[in-house]
Amino acid sequence: MEFRDLGLQYSFLRRDIDDAVQRVMKSGCFIGGQEVSSLEQQLADYVGTRHCITCGNGTDALLLALMAWGIGPGDAVIVPDFTFFSSGEVVSMLGAIPVFVDVDDATFNIDAEQIEPACAFARGKGLTPRAVVAVDLFGLPADYPRIREVCDRLDLLVLEDGAQGFGGSIGEKKACSFGDISTTSFFPAKPLGCYGDGGALFTDNDEWAELVRSFAVHGKGEMKYDNIRIGMNSRLDAMQAAILKVKFDSFVDRELLSVGRIASLYTEELEDCAESIGIVLPYVPRGYTSSWAQYTVQLPIACNRDVLQTCLKDQGIPTMVYYPKPMHEQKAFAGKALMSPLGCENATRLCSLALSFPMSPYLSKDDVVVVTSAIKTHLGCS
Ligand SMILES: *Cc1c(COP(=O)(O)O)cnc(C)c1O
Repeated sequence: MEFRDLGLQYSFLRRDIDDAVQRVMKSGCFIGGQEVSSLEQQLADYVGTRHCITCGNGTDALLLALMAWGIGPGDAVIVPDFTFFSSGEVVSMLGAIPVFVDVDDATFNIDAEQIEPACAFARGKGLTPRAVVAVDLFGLPADYPRIREVCDRLDLLVLEDGAQGFGGSIGEKKACSFGDISTTSFFPAKPLGCYGDGGALFTDNDEWAELVRSFAVHGKGEMKYDNIRIGMNSRLDAMQAAILKVKFDSFVDRELLSVGRIASLYTEELEDCAESIGIVLPYVPRGYTSSWAQYTVQLPIACNRDVLQTCLKDQGIPTMVYYPKPMHEQKAFAGKALMSPLGCENATRLCSLALSFPMSPYLSKDDVVVVTSAIKTHLGCS
C-alpha cells in the first residue's frame, strides 16, 4: 500500500496522459500557449472566478499574491500556526512579519476569533496588519463566512491558501474562490496534482490579475522585453498544463467523489471505537465539502505515535505526520515572526497528536479495512 498511489492513478489515465504529452512534444510549444490558456479558462470556470493565472508552484502563487498587494516591511500578515511552512515563509520573504495564531481543534483551520487580537498585538509592535492567510488544511475550506466578516471589519485582505483545498466547497461556492486572491498547488501529491511543480492563483479583481501576470514574468509591461517592475520567473509549462487537463477531468468526474467515499469508509470503520479509545476523527461542518488532501486523526494522548507508526509500517501501512512542528517553533522564524498573544495551544497539541492515513481516489475498500483494523488492534479495540 502506498500513502498516495500516483502510479495507480497513472495506470488508469495512461492513454490520455500519454496522448497529451505527445501532443505537446509535437507542438514545439513548451512554455505558455494554448495548453496553458485553455487550462486556466477551465479552472476559472470550475472555481467560479473571473481569472485563473497559473505559475511555477503553490509557494510562488502565495508570494505573487502578496507582491500584487504590495506587502512588505512594516506590514503584518496573520497566518495559522498549524500549516505547511510556505504559508508563512512567503510573508517573511517579502520582509513582512507573520503573526501566528491558533487553529480550531476540530477543523484544524484558523480560528477566526484570533484575528482581531493578533492585529491589535501587531499594531502595538508598530506594524500594519494587511492580510490573513487562511489555509484549507487537509482539504477542508476554512471558516470563510466568519473570516470574511472579521476581515471586512478590520480592512484586511484574505489570501486563501488552497494548496490542499482545490475541489472543496462551502454550499455552492468552490474552494479557491473565497479569498480576495486564492491560490493552489499542483504538487503531485495534492488533490489535483501534475507530474512536477505547478500552481495557480484565482481572483475576480482585474487589476491584481494583471499585476500577477506581470510579476510572474519578470515584471513585464506591454511586452516581454519591456520590464516595468522587479518580478520573477514563475510559469506552468505546457507539458504540465496538458497533463493537468486530463487529470482535471478525472478529478471532477470521479476522483473527488471517490476520496469522499474513502473518507466516509475510514470514519465508519473507526467510529464505533473512536470514543472508547479516545481517537478524534476528522470533522466536516455542515454544508462543507472536503477534497480530502489528507485523512487526519488525533490520536489519544496516551498513544505513542512513533510506536504506532512503526507498528503500521511493519504491516506495510505507510502513515505521515502533518505537521510535527507548529510554525512558531520553526527555527527559520526566530526573531522574524510574532505569536498571537492568546498562544497557540491547539496547534501545538495537534502537532503531537495528528496522524494521516493513506489516501487516494484509487485506494480500495480492502486497504481501508486493513489500515483501520491494524489501528484498532494496536489501540486495543477489536
Ligand atoms: C503544498 C503547500 C504549499 C506549497 O505548494 P508548493 O507547490 O509545494 O510550493 C503551500 N501551502 C500549503 C498549505 C501546502 O500544503
